[in-house]
Amino acid sequence: MTRAERIRKFVEYFSEHQPVAETELVYQDPYELIVAVILSAQCTDKRVNMITPAFFEKFCSFSELAGATEPEVFELVKSCSYPNSKTRYLVQLARKVMEEYHGVLPDDVDELQKLPGVGRKTAHVIASVAFNQPKLAVDTHVFRVSERIGLTFRAKNPLQTELQLVKHIPEKKIPLAHHWLILHGRYVCVARRPKCEICGLTAFCRHYQKVIKSMKH
Ligand code: SF4
Repeated sequence: MTRAERIRKFVEYFSEHQPVAETELVYQDPYELIVAVILSAQCTDKRVNMITPAFFEKFCSFSELAGATEPEVFELVKSCSYPNSKTRYLVQLARKVMEEYHGVLPDDVDELQKLPGVGRKTAHVIASVAFNQPKLAVDTHVFRVSERIGLTFRAKNPLQTELQLVKHIPEKKIPLAHHWLILHGRYVCVARRPKCEICGLTAFCRHYQKVIKSMKH
């Protein structure tokens, strides 16, 4: 089976079984989303969702966050991983949005990547989740699961994964595909021992087919 065929089957399967797939981060607007996404690096969405209610109560906009001191922000984010650098990024990002973008988060991925703490992955999450653009963010789950299923072939880094996937996924399904892969990697095709026994992709999953073949020999 070719990669293009596998990707078509993957999109068909999830379009039918999971037509709605969304981020597990709780947010109301692009401001809250980018704060939550920055906090979520190397941290669980669950932990971030415990932190953000108090954070947004104290700093409810770029304008308020831009006027904050780093110790004030640190106090609210100290229970997540890398609180020092995340604090610095958040304050610097808010100041830059106020100074250079009139307090409005840009929707262009190149502009987003000019913001402190925002790399390609974060920019693509914001563009697809907040602005519904066909941008695919590749995190550790997307990278691993795509290769296991056989949606990518020997992708060496997230950029190669992204380019191989977007070539064959219909544009309007790209934002959904990001969530499908993340949620599948988080709950079914987990890193150490994928739960193939409850997975609906066995008929075309490259990893599963290899395991089956090796058992027959
Ligand atoms: S069959 Fe197994 S390896 Fe393949 S996607 Fe499902 S859980 Fe992952």
